[in-house]
Amino acid sequence: MPHVLVLNASYEPLGVVSMRRALILLLNHKAIALEDAGTTLHSATSAVPAPSVVKLTRFVRVPYRGPVPLTRRALFARDHGRCVYCGAAATSVDHVIPRSRGGQHRWDNVVAACRRCNHTKADRHLADLGWRMKRPPAAPSGLAWRVIGTGIKDPRWRPYLEPYGGLDQFRDFEHHDHTELPPAVPSPVRTRPVRRGEQHAPLSA
Ligand SMILES: [Zn+2]
Repeated sequence: MPHVLVLNASYEPLGVVSMRRALILLLNHKAIALEDAGTTLHSATSAVPAPSVVKLTRFVRVPYRGPVPLTRRALFARDHGRCVYCGAAATSVDHVIPRSRGGQHRWDNVVAACRRCNHTKADRHLADLGWRMKRPPAAPSGLAWRVIGTGIKDPRWRPYLEPYGGLDQFRDFEHHDHTELPPAVPSPVRTRPVRRGEQHAPLSA
């Protein structure tokens, strides 16, 4: 069953719910459908279009917006599924300052990395290797991250999420099974392509 994007009455993204939960909101007139998923759901007595985006009919105050939870899925979304060191498809999580040297598991110390870079780097500092990143890692922000962080994507959600940040993450937006990691996409901003013969050479001379 696909998931459904829920917007507040003010259109700000609130999160992702199951189709079943979304249908209950619609049936109880707590929400209206803004986008259909393109399929029809049949009950014993009626057929309704399956929603893809619903909007609450009454504004819900969200008291506290905590930081985006640091999960593997959210981290890969932030780093576009690419190794921040070489641009290859990311397969692992790297601690920039190694945990063995006191580095913490926080947004500003974790990056997506490929297996080779992670293995090469091991428990060394970037300076030990002469590597550097284009920009220091940071916690993502913006209300769209309530949705991006789940790793669940639907192209119909894009126009509703774009105004709330995380636009980069939707550049190569495509539908995929949310149990998989985000697909690896090129990231010209953050990384530099590896040229033949210089794989894993230092990024700075
Ligand atoms: Zn790499």
